[in-house]
Amino acid sequence: MRILIVEDEPTLQLQLAQSAREAGYAVDVASNGLDAHFQGDTESYDAVVLDLGLPQMDGITVLRKWRAAGCTMPVLILTARDGWHEKVSGIDAGADDYLTKPFHMEELLARLRGLIRRAGGHASSELVCGPLTMDMRNSRAIVDGQALTLTSHEYRLLAYLMHHRDEVVSRSELVEHIYAQDYDRDSNTVEVFIARLRKKLPPGLIATVRGLGYRLSTSV
Ligand code: CA
Repeated sequence: MRILIVEDEPTLQLQLAQSAREAGYAVDVASNGLDAHFQGDTESYDAVVLDLGLPQMDGITVLRKWRAAGCTMPVLILTARDGWHEKVSGIDAGADDYLTKPFHMEELLARLRGLIRRAGGHASSELVCGPLTMDMRNSRAIVDGQALTLTSHEYRLLAYLMHHRDEVVSRSELVEHIYAQDYDRDSNTVEVFIARLRKKLPPGLIATVRGLGYRLSTSV
């Protein structure tokens, strides 16, 4: 899962990015509205955290432009205290949720999980596929009662497949959703991660669909 964090206040941006990375997301950041708009328009994100007070282009305008261009990723806006009018315009502009500053990081992460879960049509934070259970609240994957030891890339890849289980997911889609923008993608290819995951998972859980990609399912 890959997210974009748009926040112009450096300390808060750093805290947000760090917490999100610790929670298992690939994280890109933007510090102004123009960069944010470009990144959201051209990259694939599973969710966006968008501060509304931004230099160069305000958050509401960024959001309106994304929605007008057909970008449907879930967006959580950060609003100023007492900014009820901001919440109203934000939601009208296409925001899916909001948080008022200051907020607790735990709450932000919970709201992000909720947005990503609902975008995938899942009702619970615990996703199950045959013997595999993933709990998004604590970033754990369990097979038959045993917790798996996964690297951050393996976890992200498996989480993405899990949110899209029973669907064929292409290699390029996986690349888009497991790496941050500045990551050197050549050294660790999707094929390598898939091979490593397969060694840790029950046989047949990740199927290769020739020429199309991969599918996580129990119906093999
Ligand atoms: Ca701001």
